[in-house]
Parts: sequence; C-alpha cells; structure tokens
Amino acid sequence: MRHLLEKALQTNFNLTEFRIGQLEIIENILARKDVIAMLPTGGGKSLCYQLPGYFLEGPILIVSPLLSLMEDQVEQIKQRGEKSVIALNSTTPIYKRRLHLESIQQYRYIYASPEILQIDYVRHALKEANISLFVVDEAHCISQWGHDFRPDYAKLGELRGELKNPPCLALTATATKEVILDIKEILQFSSEHREYIYSINRSNISLSVEKLSTMNEKITRIVELVQNLKGPGIIYCSSRLWTEKLAQILMDSGVGDVGYYHGGMDQEQRILIQQQFLYNQLKIVCCTNAFGMGVNKQNIRYVIHFHFPSQIESYMQEIGRAGRDGLPSIAITLVTNKDYEIPKLLVDSEFPSYEKLYQTVYFLEENKHIPLTSDKIIEMCGLSETQCRYIENIYHNHSLEPEKMISYIWNEIEKRVLIKHDKLNTMTKWIATTDCRRKQLLAYFDENLEIVQDNCCDCCGVSYDLFISSEKNSYQTTVINWVAELDEIFRRVSE
Ligand code: ADP
Ligand code: MG
Repeated sequence: MRHLLEKALQTNFNLTEFRIGQLEIIENILARKDVIAMLPTGGGKSLCYQLPGYFLEGPILIVSPLLSLMEDQVEQIKQRGEKSVIALNSTTPIYKRRLHLESIQQYRYIYASPEILQIDYVRHALKEANISLFVVDEAHCISQWGHDFRPDYAKLGELRGELKNPPCLALTATATKEVILDIKEILQFSSEHREYIYSINRSNISLSVEKLSTMNEKITRIVELVQNLKGPGIIYCSSRLWTEKLAQILMDSGVGDVGYYHGGMDQEQRILIQQQFLYNQLKIVCCTNAFGMGVNKQNIRYVIHFHFPSQIESYMQEIGRAGRDGLPSIAITLVTNKDYEIPKLLVDSEFPSYEKLYQTVYFLEENKHIPLTSDKIIEMCGLSETQCRYIENIYHNHSLEPEKMISYIWNEIEKRVLIKHDKLNTMTKWIATTDCRRKQLLAYFDENLEIVQDNCCDCCGVSYDLFISSEKNSYQTTVINWVAELDEIFRRVSE
C-alpha cells in the first residue's frame, strides 16, 4: 500500500516524500476510519485528503470556511493539472450551480461552504453523489470554543448522516483539547476514530514582544524594523484604517513596495494585492486579519503585529504564515499600554447591544410576512453584518415569543462575550509573561515543549541579527515628527 501511495504522490503531486503525519493519516482514511488531524500551519494538510482522491470511489466533499481559501485551493489543484474540481459557494450564479449539481458525481473534489450546504437542492444533489470522504478543513471553526463559530457548522454532523455517513477527516492547526472534543462530537465521529495530533510548534519562527510607551515610539520602531528586516513581511493591524495609514507611513519613510489589504476593499483590488505579494512585486502588506488564510507563500520572513489579536488561536494562525520554507523567520508583536482597550472594544462590537437586539427582534416580528433581505435589516436596525447574521440565525432556528426570544438571544450573547473575554485575557497574559513564550503558547494547545532552542523568544533570548538584511530597505532616512504626519495621513486616508 505504502508503495502505491508514494507512487501517487509522485505522479499526481510531483512530490517525493511524505511529510510528518501525512502517510498515517492517508492510510487510515483509506481504511475508512474517521480521522482528526492537527498538523502545524503549512504542514501539508491539503494533501491528506487530496491524495485519497485517486483511490476512493466517489467525490470528496471539502467543507471550507472562507471563500478566498476555497478559490485558492481550487486554483492550486488546477495548476497541478487536475481539472476535476469545483467550488460551490454564494458567488456561483444559481443557474451555474444547478448545472454543476446535475453532473456533480463526475468531480473528484467538491469544495463547499457550510452555508451553501444548507440549501435543499444542494443537499439533495450531494446525497445522490455517493460522497466518499467528508472533509472539514480549518475544523476549529466548528467549535463554539474556537473562533468564527457559525451556526451552520453545527449542522454538519447531521448532513454527514444524510450523505450515508462517509468517513470524516477534520483538519486543523490550532485546536485546544476542548475544541477537539467539540469537533468530534459535532461531526459525530465513530468510536473507532483515529487522532493524529502532531506538534504544532514552528521552531523556525522566533517569537518576540516589544513594549513601547507611546504610539509615536511604536511607529518609529515599526519603520525601523521594516527598513532593516529581511522581507517579505506581513504587518497585522486591528482596523482597516490603520492598514492604510501604516502603509502610507512606511512609504513616506522611504520603504518601497508596500501595499494594504482589508475586507472593505472590493474583491478585484484584494486579489490584485494578494497576487502582487505572491509574485514578489509587493514586499510588505499591512492588513487586517482578513488577509492570510490561503496565502500560500513560502518565503515570508516576518510577521509583525502592530496590534495584537484577541486570542491565541488567531496569533498562532497569523504568525504561522511566516517561514513555510523552513528558513529562520520572526514574529514580532509591538505593544503599548493603550493597545489593551482595542481588542476589548472589538469583542464587544461583534455582538449587538440589548437595545439593538430588542429593536431587531421586534422588527423581524412585525415584518414576519414580508421577505426581508439582510441588507434591509442592517439598514433599519443599525446593525453590523456580523451582528445581523448572529441575530437572524438564532431567530430563524427557534420559534419563541418575542420577549422569550430576546432573553434567549441575550443569554447566548452574554455567554459568547464571556468566552471571548476569557480568550482575550489569556492573550494579554501571554504578552505579559516572562517565561518562555513558545512553551506557554504550546501549553495553551496542551502541548508540552521539552526542547530548548536557540533564538526561541524574547524571554529566553533572541538575537535579531539573523533577520537583519545586509542592505537597508529604504532610499532615505529622515527623522519625522509622527504626530503631525499622522494627522496629515489620517486626513488623506479619510478623504
Ligand atoms: P496546511 O497544512 O497549512 O493546510 P498546505 O496543505 O496548504 O498546508 O501545504 C502547504 C505547502 O506544503 C503546499 O505548498 C504543499 O504543496 C506543500 N506540501 C504538502 N505536502 C508536501 C510534501 N509531502 N512534500 C513537499 N511539499 C509538500
Ligand atoms: Mg490548509
């Protein structure tokens, strides 16, 4: 068997050797076991379901959380010469979707979002398709304890049952013990399942947190870092505005090849930036957390957090984009005392206030018999997209009197906020720690780090020499008054 698998690896993927975990995982899938696998970011999880595609009868269904991620995977599969792949998502026109569904059985890989899988005729077509393997990529998204929980994820187990219970493969790079239990339960894993939990330590990424006293100092520091570090690099910011502002600041300081990326840009622009970055026309991208998943760039040398994320899971995913080629890379987080307020506000703004909730539930009740688009609800009730989706989902899945509905949803919101604040606390504790950062990070995922390594983290000692470029990445060095500059840039950006 092993020989056959190695041959398929060579012929279909043009690769010579399996990486850690891949062979075991694939063998168990082919033995029709349910498998949950945790491999580090960039560890080669896609191959674990793509290779079985050449041995199993019937299409493989891959549930993927993000549109961009799905499209990226489809593109990569096509590039290696495999045409038998399709993505079903909300951007596919309905007539096309129906057309694809008629011949769905002919595809080797079917990518789908959890939301699209809730549509009746999609489910119906898939039931007929004889799905051979049910894959959930980025499976931590399933868990109410993980990030990005979406209600349609909770229904995946049921869907799997409808598809005549094909074996299931759940993949993740960032799941705590709790999350793994949750995933197995939601996907209704059989008691015979296998777990492949490998170290998610990325030993080639050094970790560093730098504390600064003012925003001005932080900006001076990031300019200095970007001018000196070997690129390419990614810089994460907490808001769309900051990505634009920071890109401008860096350009003004003489650093070339800087772009920005956030969810508020139109799709064309976003694809352009992503492509330019992939093909080295842009050396640095200032971005929100909308950037990164699916960016399969091997040589990213640094990830800087200009603002820190609201949970360890996100931090792990974001720094994991560095050093996929295995070469030394660095993750630097810049922190001032004022930064602690931002993620708190972000967490709170994910959910509606009590007043907004009240208003929305009554608005939905009063317009029960009129078809309402989410845009209309957002406009009438002054909600954000996430807030609206959150309320709508619960509202449509429960039949309760308005008062009961409101208190039910509010109760749920309070629980979620509590979980998120708890996660944020863990993140800020990690920032404040004086013990080995790597050890603490892995301990969060219940991994015990035993080896001590060079250039581990700022607490154990890290030297930036390894990451400094021999030539300065700028054309000029000027001392700039950032307070005045910022005002000017702010004005320009908001125009
Ligand atoms: P992730 O675990 O983050 O999902 P991917 O599946 O996207 O990682 O794989 C990351 C990169 O590793 C891809 O470019 C892929 O082609 C490459 N890769 C996967 N398996 C192997 C292998 N056995 N040998 C060499 N490269 C591999
Ligand atoms: Mg992946």
